[in-house]
Amino acid sequence: MSAAPRQLGHEGPGLVNPTPDVPVFPAGRARPGTRESDLPRFGDLRWQLAALDHGASGRSQAVNWESVPVSLRAGFMRAGWAVINLPTPEILLHRSGSSTRPRLSPGSLKRTFSAWRRLARWLAQHQVTCLDQVDRSLLEKYPQFLAERGLTRGPVTTEMFAITRLWAYAPFLLPADRITMPPWDEPGAEPGDFPGAPAGGAGENTTIPVHPAVMSPLLVAALRTVTDFAPDILAAWRDARSLLDRIPPAPRPGGRADIRAYLQRLRDTGQPLPVFTGRQTGALARAHRVTQPGKTGPGRPLAHNRFIAGTLGVTAVQVTALLAAEPDVLEGVRSGAGAPLATPVTAQVGGRSWRDGIDVEDVMDLAVHLAAAALLTVAYLSGMRPQEVLNLERGCCTAGQREDGTVRYLITGRHFKGVTDEDGNTIPGGQTRSQPWTVIEPVHRAITVLEELTEGPLLFPRRFSKAAKPRAYLGDAMSVITANARIARFAAWANTLAAEHRREHEVIPADPDGAVTMRRFRRTAAWFINRQPGGRIALGIQYGHLRASFGESYGGRSRVDMLQILDLEQALATADTLTEAAGRLNDGEGVSGPAAGRYIAAAREFQAAYAGGFASKRQYRALLDNPRLQVFDPPQALLTCNHDPLKALCDPNRGKPGGQPQRTPSQDRCHSACANISRTDTHVERIQAEVGRIEAEIADGPVPLPIQQRLRQRQATLNEIIGRHQATRIHPYSPEDPSDRDPGE
Ligand code: SF4
Repeated sequence: MSAAPRQLGHEGPGLVNPTPDVPVFPAGRARPGTRESDLPRFGDLRWQLAALDHGASGRSQAVNWESVPVSLRAGFMRAGWAVINLPTPEILLHRSGSSTRPRLSPGSLKRTFSAWRRLARWLAQHQVTCLDQVDRSLLEKYPQFLAERGLTRGPVTTEMFAITRLWAYAPFLLPADRITMPPWDEPGAEPGDFPGAPAGGAGENTTIPVHPAVMSPLLVAALRTVTDFAPDILAAWRDARSLLDRIPPAPRPGGRADIRAYLQRLRDTGQPLPVFTGRQTGALARAHRVTQPGKTGPGRPLAHNRFIAGTLGVTAVQVTALLAAEPDVLEGVRSGAGAPLATPVTAQVGGRSWRDGIDVEDVMDLAVHLAAAALLTVAYLSGMRPQEVLNLERGCCTAGQREDGTVRYLITGRHFKGVTDEDGNTIPGGQTRSQPWTVIEPVHRAITVLEELTEGPLLFPRRFSKAAKPRAYLGDAMSVITANARIARFAAWANTLAAEHRREHEVIPADPDGAVTMRRFRRTAAWFINRQPGGRIALGIQYGHLRASFGESYGGRSRVDMLQILDLEQALATADTLTEAAGRLNDGEGVSGPAAGRYIAAAREFQAAYAGGFASKRQYRALLDNPRLQVFDPPQALLTCNHDPLKALCDPNRGKPGGQPQRTPSQDRCHSACANISRTDTHVERIQAEVGRIEAEIADGPVPLPIQQRLRQRQATLNEIIGRHQATRIHPYSPEDPSDRDPGE
């Protein structure tokens, strides 16, 4: 058959074989405003699919068929055309755990075709010249090949499913284009049966959290930039713009005389000449030496023409022309080290100004870093997905006071994942989320900063850049790839600043699992919420608030979402806690406190139930649902919380009629009289260290009397805890008596 889409599925069985001039997809599916003539054609070796994405953060989605071996290329292209134009076959839609849609998004199409390209090259190496030569034994080897190339679980799953998709379309393809059923799709087969293939599914739960040693200083740097540095950067941004806005569109009469008078003034007062120090300094200097001999030379840097022009209200050409025609006017004028704005620098790092001044050439870089810090703050502390963040619009965040006086910040925006029409197809532009996201104050602040920094409706416009390239197929918002690159550059800048201020402890190290990307933030936030409530004080409080805001943002949503990621991380943290608890007890540690018995029982029960490992979804659900195993013991804590909601003194609604008990403790409000507390010898060692630290602080230097009294009080309380622990602790296992252990040890 010769190719028109209408022939497929409408007028009887037809096989996909488009002619070269057939569009790769119909105009009706393209972004509004796309011309029919701009659509890619089947015969093109490069298919640009970006017009299928109607979102603002869309970017190029080009598929390059040239890199598919020639012998296999036509077959893969015909199959590709089928995947774009024919609905996903039922067999894929209805298989267990499937999340595929009747019609794929451009990103999914591109991933599928990239996987095919890799398969095609591998097949060519195995002397396959036509898809119908692909047999079972060949496919059986492919997952192993992928694993040997270093691909991790998620990507291997994607590649295998792309092959499954190729097979699923076989009935619609020419006989020569049909592959056999992949062995992992045979009845009873599991992907994990194949060497190198993953045993479970992929998805957000397998995303690796950013390492805590990376995320903590990165977040501290972002919050400091948005909170402390933002006023200075925004003031410099405004000053630089008003300086440049004063440059008239055409030369002003009398301008040259003003420039001469200005230079004379500099000469008389000894003030420095504004000098250009931008990235192109070297190239400009070379060009000027050729075109304007005398203007520059050894020991004479380039004057900052636009700075001078803005200062005097003349054109930059007037400045350039005068300096070229009358180089002597610079005689006796001292050159500066740059072109600093008059903007005062108010923020401090460690008690000194965070920078000496702000050069007009640095303003755009600083503004881009500030926008990146705001992006990081919003993306990480809101739990929103990358595309949701990048499509946010001006005015999206509102503050409202509740009856109880607390302030809630709400973000209204578009969401994309799982947004489908009545046929189950993804709506390319997403839709406004019916339930706004609840966010904490720093997110609101970051959005306010962005609203001041950018123009137009979007908070993350693509044009807010030093080198935005206008391309027809790009959306108006920043793409995820650009956003990730900005985050990397922000981290490098923050590290330079930390080095300048000799704050090596604030340096952001490289993440052992690769680049810090927006996709990893949701999982990372969940990790921190469950493990670091007692970490750095400021961050600990933020994470405490974050759990509540995520709960409000995602509560009541039945499908997989942020809460599931939070649950997974909570279960993993509890498993770690109980594994460690069992280890401590086995080592002969003593336990004290009103909940000591429950702590010991929980460690024993966990050891008996999960000694072989803790991996499946069912296991983590069971752990979360077991009220006897709700044990919370973040690193460096001074106690363990054996959470029983009915006893939790940190729950302000405990015992109130109609009040829902809290599912997790609020460790930032922990009460020393709570019946959920237990302590092991390890906690008491930490308490002893704290007593020693306080002693050293008092002995170290002059501490004001009221503070000294407070420290002494704290010391007395801690000493009391140590004494009580030593007097009342119980030892479930004696280190001297190995027979006192669980059977099987
Ligand atoms: S008061 Fe402390 S020990 Fe009690 S439930 Fe809350 S966090 Fe746990």
